[in-house]
Order: sequence, then structure tokens, then C-alpha cells
Amino acid sequence: MKVRIFDTTLRDGEQSPGVALSPEQKLLIAKKLDKLGVDAIEAGFPVVSEGEKKAIRMITDANLSSEICGLARTSKKDIDAAVDCGLKYIHAFIATSDIHLEHKLHLTRDEVLSKAIEAVEYGKSRGLQVEFSAEDATRSDREFLKKVFGEVAKAGADRIDIPDTVGYSTPQYIAEITKDAIAASKLPVSVHCHNDFGLAVANAISGIQAGAQCAHVTINGIGERAGNASLEELVMALQCLQFDKKWETNINTKLLYETSRYISNLVGMPVQPNKAIVGENAFGHESGIHTHGVLSNPLTYEPINPELVGRKRWFQVGKHAGAHGMNAMLKEYGIEPDKEQTQIILEKVKRLGDQGKQVTDVELLSIASEILGERGIKRIVQLTGFSVSTGIGTMPYAFVKLNIDGKEIFATDYGVGPVDASLNAIQKITGKIAEVRIKEYGLASIAGGSNALCEVTIKVEDPFGNMASAKSIGEDIVTTSVQAMIDGINRIMLKKMLKEKKVGN
Ligand code: MN
Repeated sequence: MKVRIFDTTLRDGEQSPGVALSPEQKLLIAKKLDKLGVDAIEAGFPVVSEGEKKAIRMITDANLSSEICGLARTSKKDIDAAVDCGLKYIHAFIATSDIHLEHKLHLTRDEVLSKAIEAVEYGKSRGLQVEFSAEDATRSDREFLKKVFGEVAKAGADRIDIPDTVGYSTPQYIAEITKDAIAASKLPVSVHCHNDFGLAVANAISGIQAGAQCAHVTINGIGERAGNASLEELVMALQCLQFDKKWETNINTKLLYETSRYISNLVGMPVQPNKAIVGENAFGHESGIHTHGVLSNPLTYEPINPELVGRKRWFQVGKHAGAHGMNAMLKEYGIEPDKEQTQIILEKVKRLGDQGKQVTDVELLSIASEILGERGIKRIVQLTGFSVSTGIGTMPYAFVKLNIDGKEIFATDYGVGPVDASLNAIQKITGKIAEVRIKEYGLASIAGGSNALCEVTIKVEDPFGNMASAKSIGEDIVTTSVQAMIDGINRIMLKKMLKEKKVGN
């Protein structure tokens, strides 16, 4: 059975604290969502601002295959604003819980009911498809909720939505009120679940099992407070897990990772590493037991093939490492230690792990080459000294000291800012041994105060066409950028060296 995917990244997602998008950025995201195959895109809340109206108009003009929807309260002004943006489909809402009626709307249940009916009638009179939402449905009186759904259906609503506005429902309860809504309205029902207790996806699935045909979701689960049900988790769970029915969606799952990264970068919200499906670690393996299992058959420790969501599995060595995984990594670089050498390398790796250090592939290769006596690979760039100065009325200036192959080299340089100055100084030094140029530099930060974490991604290339990318996360933009740059340089030098070695053989 087909489940309809209603994406609200551009509306509820944009309501995440700290997120604000320009109309151009919203259009870019809408195009990405359309390509991903979502059935409907909630493009925004037309009445809130001129920029929002402009963005929605740009999206409705873009001729996308997805249906485009806009949010409206049950007022003529909101519905007119939607029509002005070229929308043919609105998501009209009014709260139905006593908490909202008493403390926010100051309306009686009867007044809310008539407002809901009037809005649906007005929306229909303006030629719109109307999806009616009873805000805070899961904390509303169950009998009153049924009555509202029945009456708006009579008034001509096309769809009903059940929002779990503060993520308060259990999977069992949302199933019950989904059945209520279907019985009362005889209309297609959507579920809109929030993640305040980490149950958004579970609640959405439960609603679907109870007969809902559509789920409101966002990419990476972004949204107000703890966010919404995440599109990628819901879609993959429906497709891959065992249900008594077979569920399908129109999503091209191979684009999930790419879309997640794209939106994370645009909205400036990094994805947590242990996030299902799209988190950095979702298909990464460190423990020896797991790595061994995955190498003999991925099904042992991977529920799905990572390629299904546009990803690749990766291994890392650390204190839980085993010989199998480590040698699989080394083999990719053409290094095959014997049994005794393997044991020595592994001990060194574990000792580093016990000291709380992460062992990157560059460090692993360095250790391996030392044990195997291959001198070339030892040439690794290490940052041993660094300072910057910046301000107003002064040129940003950086001092960098690097250790290359045991030799200390330092350089100083200016730049347009402290990051630029630092990277210029590094390139001054490494330019002598490897002409590494920065091809791409990306900076993302967790929205918040001046102590926000930042994520720097750098893509570097050399004149021989070798490319490498590196990523670093930290609290200081400048040192994090420098770390990413050094990692990138090490990777590219390694690639070059191994290529030369292969040619030499
Ligand atoms: Mn919401």
C-alpha cells in the first residue's frame, strides 16, 4: 500500500529555533524535495511575512511534480494570503485542546467548531484543496475531536490531519484516534507527529497501521523543539521492517543521504553522528567483532545495505579493533602485513585508543608503514604551533608551525580573516612539498550562542588531479579549519604516494 509523504521541512522545519531561510534557499530546497519524490511540500506560512509570500510564489511558479501546500489559520486573511501566492492547497488549523482554548485562543469549544467550519467553507469557495488540522489533537477531548472532524468533513474538507503538536501521544493512543478520525470523517487522514519523547516515527507508523494514508515529516527530523518525525527514518522503516501489510512510498531512497546533507548545510543544523539512516556513524564500524562479521557478511551487523540510502559503509580502527577490519582497511592502500606484523600494529592502535585518541586512516597507515619499514608513508604533516591575530584596523595575521617528516617548518601570512590567514600560512609551507589547493571550504554551525560547535569540511586537490576531503568538528572556527586542512593535506599526500608506489611496482 502507498503511503503519502507530506514534507514540512520548509514550514515546520523552518520553525526550528535559529533557522531562517531566504526565498532563494527555500526554492532550492523545494526542488531537492521534489527530486527526492515527496508527494506534497508544505512550502511555508504565507501570512507571516513578505519574504515568505515571495518564497512560496517562487515555489508554486517552479512547476514541480509535488503538490504545494501552505499553512493557514482559520481566518480569511490567512486563506487569502495563500491564494495570493498561487497556492491551490492549504493546511488550515485551529487548536481543539482545552489547554489551547483556555490559555491561547480564549474561545469556547462551540466557537472553535464554527471557526473550523467557516474556514473550510471559505477555503473551498476559493477553489482550494483543504487539509484540516486540529492542533494539539492528542490532548483534546476525544469526543469533541470526533465531532470537529465529522463537521469539517461535512463542510467539504478534503483531508484530515491529526497533529501530535507537543509529541504527547503514545503509539497506542494515536492509533485509536486515527480510527476515530477515519470513522467520523470518511476522509483520507494524515498524522503529524512531534518528537518530544523520541516517539515521532513510532507514532507516525502506528497511525499508518491504524489506517492513516499520509505522514507529515521533515528531512533530518528538524522542526520546533525536538523536531518532527524524520522523513528518512519513516520511509526506510516502512520499506524495510516487517509489517503485516507491505508499505511503499514514492521516495527515491538513494537520494536520502545527499538530501539530508544538503538541507543540513543550508539550514545550518548539523546531523548528530548517531542519527538513524543519515548520521555519520549509521554505517560505520569500529569493534573488531562487528567488523569481522560485516566483512564476512554485511547482514550480520547492518540491517540494510547502505547503498539503498546513497551511502557507503566505513571502518575505523580503535581500541575495539580486530585484525580483520584493520587489515581490510590497510589492503585498500595496498598494504598487507603478515601475522606477526598485524599483531604489532594492532597493539599500537589499541594503545592509542586506550589513551582516548582517535586513530584516523592516515595515522593507521603511518603506524603500519613504520612496522613494515616502508619509509615513504611516514611523511605526515603535524601541526605543532599556531596562533592568529585579528581585529578592526589590523590585517588578520597567522603564524603556523608544522612538523613534516621530523622537520619543523614555520610560516606567517595575512588573509581577509583569521581562517584565510591560517590556511594561507599552511599552504606557504606545504606548497614546497605538495601543491595543495583548497577546492571547497564549508562551514556549518549549530545555531546558538558564541560557543556553538562548528563543522568544517574541506576539499583539496593537487596539480595531478588527486582529490581528498576532510572534516573536523570543534568549538573554535579557526583551529577547526586548520585541523581539517591538515587532515586534507595528509590524505592527498598519502594518495599521491601510494599511486607512485603502485606505478613504481
Ligand atoms: Mn508541527
